[in-house]
Amino acid sequence: MTVYDVAVVGTGPAGATAARELALQGISVALIEKDRLPRHKVCGGGITWRARTLLDFEIEPVVRSECHTALMSLAKSGATFKSTHERPIVSMVMRADFDRLLVEKATCAGAELIEGCRVDGAEFHDDEVLLQTSLGPVRAGFVIAADGATSTMARLAGWERLEQLIPALELELPVATSEYKRFEDCARFDFDMPANGYGWVFPKGDHLGVGIGGFGPGERKTDLKKELRSYLDKLKLSLPQDQQMHGYVIPLMPRKSGFVRRRVFLVGDAAGLADPMSAEGIWAAILSGRMAAEALVKGGLDSAMSSEHYERSLAGTLLPELEAGRKLARLFYSSQTLRKWLLKHYGQRMTEKVADIFMGSASYSDYADAFMRKLKLK
Ligand SMILES: Cc1cc2nc3c(=O)[nH]c(=O)nc-3n(C[C@H](O)[C@H](O)[C@H](O)COP(=O)(O)OP(=O)(O)OC[C@H]3O[C@@H](n4cnc5c(N)ncnc54)[C@H](O)[C@@H]3O)c2cc1C
Repeated sequence: MTVYDVAVVGTGPAGATAARELALQGISVALIEKDRLPRHKVCGGGITWRARTLLDFEIEPVVRSECHTALMSLAKSGATFKSTHERPIVSMVMRADFDRLLVEKATCAGAELIEGCRVDGAEFHDDEVLLQTSLGPVRAGFVIAADGATSTMARLAGWERLEQLIPALELELPVATSEYKRFEDCARFDFDMPANGYGWVFPKGDHLGVGIGGFGPGERKTDLKKELRSYLDKLKLSLPQDQQMHGYVIPLMPRKSGFVRRRVFLVGDAAGLADPMSAEGIWAAILSGRMAAEALVKGGLDSAMSSEHYERSLAGTLLPELEAGRKLARLFYSSQTLRKWLLKHYGQRMTEKVADIFMGSASYSDYADAFMRKLKLK
């Protein structure tokens, strides 16, 4: 049986990035995926500029459309705000294509892809982890758990279920060219559809990605299918009878009990790292995948040193940024009345700030405290 330095479980952006970074450093990596690629992933497929620029290769071949404008509106009042940038604020992809590209980059760098291979058990030893998979055992010195919001690997290593898993629903809607033109070039976010959440329309070249997620208190009880139908009505888009809706969860609260144990490093959704304000997850998935790989390299594949590097790099940058986003999200999604007031007074500035954050030229950390002070909440 081959013994790998690292087994990466999951071929989303977190896993594929970690595998590539490790392989580029000459570390032996198995990249394990339960499905066969390309596989469908429930996702809006919006890649922000800040996520795109984390990658040191072009993703253009898989981009369906570029959105240079971000639009935020308050669905109930119709108030609309826009911000436009010269570079695309959000690039629209289908996740099957995007993830396959990232995996190809990892395998070109030397990672060994093992697809159609579900990890369903693990034995943890002092110097290695023995994974039980649907294709037989896999041995590795370390495991990077990149298996998403309902991570099996995290459960096997003894972590609790993630705290704030928010349901979201999306569909890929075929539309006539005249309809498509109404939404072209623009990443659109409509707040209060549902209450304390937002709906989005992402143009994908030959169709629209439309979705909905509830982020505030009580939203877990919302009937999202019904809300998505009302959202489509509001947008004057018709829903073909046999149209599939796809739902999954987004983790908006990072783990509180650390990100490494028993030689397992959690990254991306498995670590709970989606942005609490926008629910964007791909940026933090790529970033944390890269950080985990760097930590293993810098730590010389020593368990204690590599763990310390990873926990420290998360605590230094990503976690404070997500915490700042959470402060704003708590305020913004707390009530419709407050949101209406905030957008009435600060709608244009907030839209510009969110666009700047998506571009990577600003951060929630820059903004949250100053904004709270302005509202005299601090
Ligand atoms: C409806 C919806 C819309 C979204 N829209 C956006 C968006 O537009 N932009 C954005 O940035 N984020 C979006 N997100 C969030 C984004 O999809 C996630 O944050 C992102 O995919 C996390 O990447 P990851 O690599 O951590 O995990 P994932 O992309 O979830 O990848 C996990 C991988 O692990 C595999 N796996 C799982 N279990 C096992 C196992 N036991 N053995 C082997 N393999 C396994 C899975 O098959 C999968 O390939 C959206 C989420 C939802 C639900």
